[in-house]
Amino acid sequence: MNTKRGSQAFPITSVCRDDLIRAEYTQKLVDMLDDADMKKIASEMSDAYCNNGFWIDLPIIVDSVLAEKAEKEGDVLIYAGSCTNPKCEEYEGTQNTRPFCSVCEAPMEVTDKRIVLDE
Ligand SMILES: [Zn+2]
Repeated sequence: MNTKRGSQAFPITSVCRDDLIRAEYTQKLVDMLDDADMKKIASEMSDAYCNNGFWIDLPIIVDSVLAEKAEKEGDVLIYAGSCTNPKCEEYEGTQNTRPFCSVCEAPMEVTDKRIVLDE
């Protein structure tokens, strides 16, 4: 990926005091937090998300956007790889439109994703 395009950042989310109210903190507690405290909360939220959900959610959401984009063109997003079930006949290799084995429904170890053009 070329460096400028590859490192261009798109913001994901932010946190505000109203979010804390929505999370059932009282106004009195929220009022105790100054901007430095809010920055600290935001920074730790960012770390927590990156250490936990970010890398799990990222490919799920990217795949859904790619699949939607492909479908608009009448194409299809294909996952290639192997079934993770050693007893399955697709253990050596399979491909499917979802990241699950088409025979036994076990998750696939995906080695390649590609959009196949519908001709
Ligand atoms: Zn299988």
